[in-house]
Amino acid sequence: MLKKYYGKIYNMLDEVTPLSKDCGVLCDKACCKEEDEPAGMFVFPFEEELLEKVDFGYLEESNCQYGEDKTAKIFYCTKPCNRSERPLSCRIFPLTPYRKNGRIKLIMNPAAKKMCPLARSLQPSQLEEAFEENVMRAMNRIQKLKDGDDYIDMLTEIADQFEEMNKKLR
Ligand code: SF4
Ligand code: SF4
Repeated sequence: MLKKYYGKIYNMLDEVTPLSKDCGVLCDKACCKEEDEPAGMFVFPFEEELLEKVDFGYLEESNCQYGEDKTAKIFYCTKPCNRSERPLSCRIFPLTPYRKNGRIKLIMNPAAKKMCPLARSLQPSQLEEAFEENVMRAMNRIQKLKDGDDYIDMLTEIADQFEEMNKKLR
């Protein structure tokens, strides 16, 4: 059941990409490269049930909580992934959902700005239209999961914290 639910979300984001061209040539695929300390990707609610079965990475608990004392997990990849199994966070990168006053919008993920030239220089509306649309469709489906809204609120708080940090570093 869950696999089918996430399968639909994954399918929405299988073919669409942030730009019509391969944006990896701009940055030498910075978002898939290991740095000294790998950043990891947040795992959406219940997605861990799919990711604990893949052979290209591992899950760890983050120090962020949502819902009723649920701890958000982070996925760390250890080698190039099987693209069809990559986490949702990788599929929506460099966008992230942002919810204020009950409405979701998409923003460039402030945590992505250090590594991603798209996140630093473009607005979400300047990305491929189909990509932005399908990320929004995917987030609408996430919202329908138990604690989906709380999870998006958690991502919103994290985005606010990164934005504050980015301002201090400017
Ligand atoms: S870091 Fe940004 S520009 Fe580079 S491959 Fe990832 S999404 Fe594309
Ligand atoms: S899981 Fe795949 S897409 Fe995501 S960061 Fe790792 S290599 Fe890149």
